[in-house]
Amino acid sequence: MFTEWTPLCRRGLMMVLSSPSGAGKTTLARRLLEVEPEMSLSVSVTTRPPREGEVDGCDYTFTDNVTFDLMVNRGELLEHAKVFNNYYGTPRAPVEQALSEGRDVLFDIDWQGTQQLAEQTRDDLVSVFILPPSWNELERRLFTRAQDSHEEIAHRMEKAADEMSHWAEYDYVIVNRDLDESDVAVRAILHSERLRRRRQVGLSEFIKGLQQGL
Ligand code: 5GP
Repeated sequence: MFTEWTPLCRRGLMMVLSSPSGAGKTTLARRLLEVEPEMSLSVSVTTRPPREGEVDGCDYTFTDNVTFDLMVNRGELLEHAKVFNNYYGTPRAPVEQALSEGRDVLFDIDWQGTQQLAEQTRDDLVSVFILPPSWNELERRLFTRAQDSHEEIAHRMEKAADEMSHWAEYDYVIVNRDLDESDVAVRAILHSERLRRRRQVGLSEFIKGLQQGL
């Protein structure tokens, strides 16, 4: 007889990808979600206006300052922060539901949000910091993306140095020289972290069964 023990007994994990804007984090997140059916993206709420092509409820839930404040006061956000003069936050309910169902959640949030998640749910958190290969390359990527005004790009470059100073608060650091290589690295981290002993709920029962010859 075999004691049934399925991966559904695994508790989901929270994987954070942070980086200065333009380091490739969003592309890496999209690629990861394409190949990991057990993982979903945490859709943040923001007071920032949508960029061209962004879809409400998909890229972000776009809202106003009053509604954002209400969500904060009602405790509906797991973390929240001011970034580039706009507010961003993570809705609590979908994350808690996913984790309890053994599904992983991916977060594209900044260092402030990562610190708040670490304070609340350290055991569920896996944090990854993505660095650009060079300063020039970061600037080049922001310009080729052509989503922001020159003024905004200059501001993002200024902020990049500050964001990068938080690298040591993360569990893993990836220098994104090549998207394919970084993609493999992110998946390797996810697959290893899923195997952490504390995430394998029901493991001790399974082993007891093995010891009893089941
Ligand atoms: P963007 O405006 O370029 O989409 O995002 C700007 C920054 O805000 C990025 O560094 C992104 O990771 C961060 N961000 C997006 N959503 C959240 C969130 O819910 N919480 C926090 N703390 N940061 C976020």
